[in-house]
Parts: sequence; C-alpha cells; structure tokens
Amino acid sequence: MNPSLLPCPCCRFPTLSEHGIHEICRVCWWEDDRQGDDCATEVWGGPNGMYSLSTSTTTVTCSILAKASRW
Ligand SMILES: [Zn+2]
Repeated sequence: MNPSLLPCPCCRFPTLSEHGIHEICRVCWWEDDRQGDDCATEVWGGPNGMYSLSTSTTTVTCSILAKASRW
C-alpha cells in the first residue's frame, strides 16, 4: 500500500490521492464527492446514487465481515 494515500471516507482503506476530487475508491467504489462524517447520513445523489455515506459504510463493513467470516 502507498503510505501517502488518504483514507476513503466510506471504507477507510487508504485509496485516495486527494479528497474531494471525485476519485473512485478501488475497494468499495465510493466516489469521493467531499461528503464526510459530518453529513454522512445525507443522500447527495449524483455519482453515489441513492446511498448516503453512512449507508455505504455499513454495506461495505458488512460485506467485508461476510467475506472475512468465510476465510
Ligand atoms: Zn472505499
């Protein structure tokens, strides 16, 4: 992993080179449209569709845990 990368606001993996430039996370496919924890429950539409950041974070966490439980 590249230590200079910033954590994705959705899955927290360090996948972004800069925040708020609409970069797509390679782990969870969240598009970083500047939404952060302070407004995580809001649905902004746009590239992330009908999902709020908190909904996506929960979904990602569940899918990671589901995968982990099968290892
Ligand atoms: Zn992510």
